[in-house]
Amino acid sequence: HYDVHIIGGGLAGSETAWQLGRRGFKVRLSEMRGTGERSPAHQTDGLAELVCSNSFRSDDDEKNAVGLLHHEMRLCDSLIMGAAAKAQVPAGSALAVDRDVFSAEVEARLGALPNVEIVRERVDTLPGSGMTVVATGPLTAQALAGSIAQATGADSLAFFDAIAPIVYRETIDMDICWMASRWDKPSKFGGEAKDYINCPMDKDQYLAFHQGLIDGEKTAFKEWEANTPYFDGCMPIEVMAERGVETLRFGPMKPVGLDNPHWATPEHPNGRWPYAVVQLRQDNKLGTLWNMVGFQTKLKHAEQVRLFRTIPGLEKAEFARLGGLHRNTFLNSPVLLDRQLRLKSAPHVRFAGQITGCEGYVESAAVGLMTGLMTAAELAGRDWQAPPRTTALGALLAHITGDAEAESYQPMNVNFGLFPPLHDVKKKQRKEAYTSRAKEDIGGWLATLAPAA
Ligand code: FAD
Repeated sequence: HYDVHIIGGGLAGSETAWQLGRRGFKVRLSEMRGTGERSPAHQTDGLAELVCSNSFRSDDDEKNAVGLLHHEMRLCDSLIMGAAAKAQVPAGSALAVDRDVFSAEVEARLGALPNVEIVRERVDTLPGSGMTVVATGPLTAQALAGSIAQATGADSLAFFDAIAPIVYRETIDMDICWMASRWDKPSKFGGEAKDYINCPMDKDQYLAFHQGLIDGEKTAFKEWEANTPYFDGCMPIEVMAERGVETLRFGPMKPVGLDNPHWATPEHPNGRWPYAVVQLRQDNKLGTLWNMVGFQTKLKHAEQVRLFRTIPGLEKAEFARLGGLHRNTFLNSPVLLDRQLRLKSAPHVRFAGQITGCEGYVESAAVGLMTGLMTAAELAGRDWQAPPRTTALGALLAHITGDAEAESYQPMNVNFGLFPPLHDVKKKQRKEAYTSRAKEDIGGWLATLAPAA
């Protein structure tokens, strides 16, 4: 008998099990590896295997959002952060680990909890009852993915991401760009016809940009990703560019109906249409993050930064996220999950980790940590209070559970664009201001958590 069934012993599921086990709840942790089966990316049977890099990224908790997340997770007695400390290898200001030592440490610490049972089994269907946490990650095994798709509606579970770059709003030059919707169509939200930020290109700029897309160095698909389908509307921008020099001008870079007021003349008082336009659409409710519409890409990250900064108005753009396309199972969480990561249609099921649409080892573990705390609160009959929005945990959770734009929802790293903005603080001091505000605000919330044994 157990209180909670956790499916998936990766970064998130292991952390969820720890948070529950440490609070005295009985946990069954089902992990498919160890039965002879593995995802195409996993190479061992160890819990919390790091499938690629051995880095948890920056450990700087004063100027970096992921470093701040490390700090907050440590305050919550995180298993993943604890094991990382034990397995740490030198990596400058980054937190990197020996992956084998790390995984063994996670397994040893969890194994030492008498009320956590680690079972090597593959789960193929969503349990119809009983408190359940699904933490099966970006490469969730097929049968279970099918069962989740059935429970959520096929359109709500993606099997590939198609990530367009996201730009911090404050780094867009509005002396060059302007806000407008095509043909001045009124906003579906009832506002003015100004939903998009538009970046204008003349013919020479467009031709150079088009060539840049074709020449730019691309990341290859992994062997097991090779037949990644290009769904309608998420073909990589460079693949579209290869179809012909005009294709983009009739697709995502279409200029028609977009009068550029910066180009107004006495004959054209409203301005004129540019030769081509790059459009950005608001990506979160705070309005701090804007995605480049239709710009999902396999261009290498450095190449993206270089090329996209040649777009007029984006010369100084800072990116909260760069583009990509990968195999990746994730839910449309802002629509499907409540604020406590429960499936609205089946609230005995919670989700944790990358399947919720966060991105990265640390974020996955952080969401696993919060799932554990929420489940513990529910089991104990305590009210759950979400971490403050001003903390990294709270900002990430709010994004996943409703603040992200559901229509363009794609996996997201933690970044300061998810935090309530501090416009009054000078740009140079803003990062420190975000982290010190978070550190101040988290104390009260920590006091609301049920203590660990
Ligand atoms: P996982 O760590 O994948 O854990 C899920 C677990 O569930 C696995 O152990 C799996 O075996 C198990 N499982 C799946 N289906 C079932 C089932 N039906 N029954 C029982 N068990 C099941 N992030 C980074 O920060 N840095 C990187 O370098 C990085 N590289 C990545 C490379 C690849 C190829 C991929 C796919 C992702 C990468 N990520 C990276 C993203 C992501 O952070 C990791 O995938 C992370 O491990 C996600 O944590 P998770 O717990 O959600 O999933």
